[in-house]
Amino acid sequence: MEILEKNRKYVDLVELRADCLEPDERFLLRRFPEMAEVPVILTIRREIDGGCYLGGEGSRITLLAKGLAYAEADRRRNFAYVELEEDLNVPSLEEAARAFGTRIIRSWHNLEGVDDDLAEKLSKLRRVGDEIVKATLMPRSLNDVVRVYQAARETRDMEKILFCMGEYGANTSILAEQLGSRISYTFPAGESGQPLAAPGQLDPKELAELYRFHEIKAKTKVFAVTGYPLKVPVSPRFFNTIFGIEQTDAVHIPIPANSVHSMIRLAETIGLAGALVTVPYKEEVLPYLTSKSKEVLSIGACNAIVASPQGWMGYNTDAVGFSGSLLSFIGRKDLWGRKVTIIGAGGTARAAAAEVYRLKGKALILNRTVARARALAEPYRFAWAGLDSRGAELMEKYSGIIIQATSVGMAPNTETDPVEFYKFSGRETVMDLIYNPKKTLCLRRAEDAGCRILSGYDMLLRQLRCQYTYYLNKEFPPSLVSRVGI
Ligand code: NAP
Repeated sequence: MEILEKNRKYVDLVELRADCLEPDERFLLRRFPEMAEVPVILTIRREIDGGCYLGGEGSRITLLAKGLAYAEADRRRNFAYVELEEDLNVPSLEEAARAFGTRIIRSWHNLEGVDDDLAEKLSKLRRVGDEIVKATLMPRSLNDVVRVYQAARETRDMEKILFCMGEYGANTSILAEQLGSRISYTFPAGESGQPLAAPGQLDPKELAELYRFHEIKAKTKVFAVTGYPLKVPVSPRFFNTIFGIEQTDAVHIPIPANSVHSMIRLAETIGLAGALVTVPYKEEVLPYLTSKSKEVLSIGACNAIVASPQGWMGYNTDAVGFSGSLLSFIGRKDLWGRKVTIIGAGGTARAAAAEVYRLKGKALILNRTVARARALAEPYRFAWAGLDSRGAELMEKYSGIIIQATSVGMAPNTETDPVEFYKFSGRETVMDLIYNPKKTLCLRRAEDAGCRILSGYDMLLRQLRCQYTYYLNKEFPPSLVSRVGI
């Protein structure tokens, strides 16, 4: 009841997991629907299905019977649903449920993966036409999730609940409408945000407010952010807040993907309208594009894809975000005559290098893996070196603008600095592309020495605005800027 009270405004019904109750509390089971004042599912989950019920099957059936007994004419005082497993054969329980309008959820658990013949399995689960079938699944990859959406489509007319657990499964909780799933499960997260009930399960507030669950319909446009591992992305908060303010029928969700191929398969299966592509797929996604923006062609990496009737259109917003942020900070239109050090040779450093070249700056690329620094620098005739004493020496000559483009210093490892060997003179302009934290150790050191510093947060905001334009084919309204806090 305490959990329900805290989350009442987010949920439409609750599941009483009687297997998690203390033995004394189980005596009070029958009173719960009246106390809850919302429809209640009665579930007593066995240990083999991932539950906590350790007693024998006889006592579990007795407890289920207790929950269904003394039915009242006012249905709100009875359990609205009871979950009975695929292999539970107790006709008297089913009769008791039917007699007083308690719907039967016929359940199947696969805690090891997703059944190959899921659609057939769902069809066979239902014994009588009025049962709602429920499959709880543990996808091991995004391809498994694709099969769940496909099975959902094949059983379109069946009343069902599909619940996918684990890191790949969370999108199915948000997209219950797209799955044709009658109920989506949620449970309050722990203090540090980790799921407490089932792995991958979302918090009720997160589901209702961040993802606007109650607004999502089967035809709602779905956008995503993808990568692997996908560390707490900021884009869902940005886009979903805007979709809410503008009343746009769209949602933006995270989809961790174990391969680009499986991501594209999922995107095509659910009709994804667009996606932000993050590490490590910005290059691997290129073969799937039917059209590439000039930035994608010059940088060789793509971080935003948009669906079109012809196929996937690929964009790179790292480049415009980077140069827009830097140029407005230094108040110039180009980098002519400027000597720039770029630290890093990963995807974002590539965008930065291409832009510095386009803007007529001269650069030095420093990277831990020297071969990558060289591969990035040579096409532009830039200088290159490792993160070592020679790099430090060269850096003295390219210290007008310093661009930190590695992941060193990013949360949670905030006390690290890729150029700890370099002593700032105070004359440098230092930009760190990391946006979390907003002030990295490198930026703090630079600021203490008197340098002008710029966080990657501004670049991020610029990118998100640009992605908004690609997604919705309209300019980002300036009035929204102050209303979107991320
Ligand atoms: P990436 O492709 O994985 O590249 C990572 C870079 O960091 C490589 O140069 C790598 O060097 C270097 N690196 C990693 N660990 C290191 C270590 N322990 N010591 C020294 N160097 C190390 O990543 P990315 O996409 O370029 O992203 C880099 C950073 O930019 C991230 O922090 C990301 O959050 C940020 N970013 C910001 C924005 C924005 O809008 N502000 C946009 C995109 C990315 P090696 O080559 O030797 O492995």
